[in-house]
Amino acid sequence: MKKEAIITLPNPKLRQKSTKVSFVTPEIKQLVDDMVAVSIDWENSRPHELSAALAAVQIDQPYKVTIIRDEFEDKDMRTFTALINPKIIKFEGKIETDYEGCLSVPGVYGLVPRHSKIRVQAMDIDGNEVRFKADGFLARLIQHEVDHTNGIVFIDHIRDQKDAFFELDEKGELKPLDYEKNIAQNSILWD
Ligand SMILES: [Zn+2]
Repeated sequence: MKKEAIITLPNPKLRQKSTKVSFVTPEIKQLVDDMVAVSIDWENSRPHELSAALAAVQIDQPYKVTIIRDEFEDKDMRTFTALINPKIIKFEGKIETDYEGCLSVPGVYGLVPRHSKIRVQAMDIDGNEVRFKADGFLARLIQHEVDHTNGIVFIDHIRDQKDAFFELDEKGELKPLDYEKNIAQNSILWD
């Protein structure tokens, strides 16, 4: 499956809740394989960006299925772990603000506040329940993906924050976006 399968704003499906998965069927395993293929295909087209995670709704499959990259520092390490029905059972640590981007919000980056530590419950690809703690970038990623399964896009957290929006220039550096021109009245981003 190719990167063209990714749906982007203003597609209203991105703001709908996904359906819980009861069993890990062969179709769900295929969905996970498709999501990995799409993530890698997308990354191949982006010299400065890393495909760190994806939710099934982003390829128009509204199930609570997400994939999280196993290694964020090395672009050549391209394996992912599936988290099915991921749920944050406890928010811990402090609120930290850092940059986020999204394959479904092309060209826009944002400074988003998230909890620095979380406890997660999910089902793995074999249908077993897993529970673990996450912090730092991984905690941020999982909060972003769980949001997707609930119909929330990262920009929804910073909608009115004029200084929170950025874009990448040709060199791959983040620079501020003109809020009034590109964000406030942008019908691509908001209903
Ligand atoms: Zn996203």
